Amino acid sequence: MGLTVAEKLIAAALVDGEMKKGSRIGLRMSQTMTHDLTGVMTYLEFEAMGLKRVKTELSVSYIDHNILQADYKNPDDHRFLADIAKKFGIVCTRPASGICHQLHLERFAKPGKSLLGSDSHTVNAGGVGMLGIGAGGLDVAMAMAGEPFYIKMPEVIKIELTEELPPFVSAKNVILEVLRRISVKGAVNAILEYAGPGINSLNVTERATICNMGAEAGATSSVFPSDAITWYWLRAQGREQDWVPIAADEDAVYDKVIHIDLSALEPLIALPHQPDNVVPVHEVAGTPIDQVMIGGCTNSSLQDVMSVAHILAGKHLHDNVDTALYCGSRQVMLESIRRGILDQLVRSGVRIMEMFCGACNGMGFAPPTNGVSLRTGPRNFIGRCGTQSASVYLAAPEVAAASALAGKITDPRRLDLTPWKYQMPASFIVDESMFVFPPAQAEDMSVRRGPNIKPLPAIEPVPDQLTGEVLIKVGDDITTDHIVPAGANFMPIRCNIPEISQYVFKVVDETFPTRARQAGSGFIVGGHNYGQGSSREQAALAPRYLGVRAVIAKSFARIHLANLVNFGILPLVFVNESDYHLLGQGDKLLLDTVALAAGACYKVVNKANGAEVLVASPLSQAELDYVKVGGRLNWIKLHSR
Ligand code: SF4
Repeated sequence: MGLTVAEKLIAAALVDGEMKKGSRIGLRMSQTMTHDLTGVMTYLEFEAMGLKRVKTELSVSYIDHNILQADYKNPDDHRFLADIAKKFGIVCTRPASGICHQLHLERFAKPGKSLLGSDSHTVNAGGVGMLGIGAGGLDVAMAMAGEPFYIKMPEVIKIELTEELPPFVSAKNVILEVLRRISVKGAVNAILEYAGPGINSLNVTERATICNMGAEAGATSSVFPSDAITWYWLRAQGREQDWVPIAADEDAVYDKVIHIDLSALEPLIALPHQPDNVVPVHEVAGTPIDQVMIGGCTNSSLQDVMSVAHILAGKHLHDNVDTALYCGSRQVMLESIRRGILDQLVRSGVRIMEMFCGACNGMGFAPPTNGVSLRTGPRNFIGRCGTQSASVYLAAPEVAAASALAGKITDPRRLDLTPWKYQMPASFIVDESMFVFPPAQAEDMSVRRGPNIKPLPAIEPVPDQLTGEVLIKVGDDITTDHIVPAGANFMPIRCNIPEISQYVFKVVDETFPTRARQAGSGFIVGGHNYGQGSSREQAALAPRYLGVRAVIAKSFARIHLANLVNFGILPLVFVNESDYHLLGQGDKLLLDTVALAAGACYKVVNKANGAEVLVASPLSQAELDYVKVGGRLNWIKLHSR
């Protein structure tokens, strides 16, 4: 039986286990990447392992999230990251050189190789036929130490694309259509593999846009083949030597096939507050907006900027709409300057921001109270933009530009615009001066640490009997943004667990931290897809710091599940989902954990109503062993003696 592209990429990285659907496999990842929001913790974890240098082919530390330097905290983080990168042999970027995913695609992503990133949108690298997987920081630290990264062998869902996109319907609409059809849970433990004649009309950044938001469907990864279009992109980046062809075998077998006729797509939009809440733009056309953000790792390429510039050319933004542009990289910015586009955008009234994630996760440019913001980024979770009462819509750059002109959500096809087709440059401006490459030897150098960078808290083993109250009961699709808030006020304290723990579940229930501390130990009860979204490991570490010992949910998102394991929180699933109603907030629970065994079921006794709820662990025996000793870092310390 032939192999899919996804299976070929997995086979190339496989070092442990068999490629049998659902079985545990270990992958040796060729490259790693971190960014400043997850990197500080990751490098503290790597440092705690006592190694002298990374063992990957390439590791890159990007500084692209915490860029607002409102006080010493973010610049202290940047200095720490620059120092520790030199010490351990990691490439580090200068602050605000570009968004990690766009920069990696331009300079380092390689077809056939694998990349583990402490950011869920690492799947973006699938645009060049690379296996990009998002993970928690500790998993990335382990990969830098040369350890295998473990996942369940995923299913492979083929997305068969036919025909070509019509004018003013760009690549973002493809992934919005996928999300509309399969939801934010539709690709959990699966890889989305794009195929069919329609892929021949999509260039690498369009492919990356589509792969990028595979993270929103819970996909382990998203991939395109590596073909002539990939070669053309790599050559334009001066990297044609990195190209290898990768295609699915003719007799490859997929677990599911989804057909999308590109020519039948229309402009789509995700309504607040989930990226799968997708409808055609015409259904909400006319909704007044306050703000437009163009950028984010989904849509900050040269093509995106040029498309916006084409729509805004010679016109001025609507008086009521504040509009900001975040170019995805220095290359995008320089290419835009070369074409006179920035000049034109400034004349139209667009605010030109630095090259970083920016407003996407609330690092500035927050909407006003009850404001409506239309964004080209990948996420619109409640509160993520920095304003709890705001409503964030997600759409393609063409919808964003048309709406910025009209002051209301607008289908660009309703404006009298000349169709425009992007021609990718035969060679891009390549400027590597934003990278600081590590010296061959620097293991003795000291690393400067600011006072906000706190050591990792100690985590105790799981006791033989877990007792405590249900500290919070939540519904389906709780994101890591719900658990640990985004925004300019909170991101600078992510490397300070005692401090950030004061804001756990702020978006849902501000009393949670106080109640958890008073209770001393307890449980979280959740619905389906608990922990979806960003890979931030603080969403496990901070609740654990407050005393959370187990999460009982209907199902978990992949990365968060791994983070719970890494930091000693026991994840459990209801054997009968209907038992969810038997556990209420404040109920006292009792759970015996003497013999945690893979595949076993356990009884949770609810002392409040006498109910006995059957739960199971979704973990392998090795993962249960990590949890039992208080997480993977404890396990490593115990076993390295
Ligand atoms: Fe940055 Fe937003 Fe992409 Fe996260 S989702 S990497 S914050 S642009």
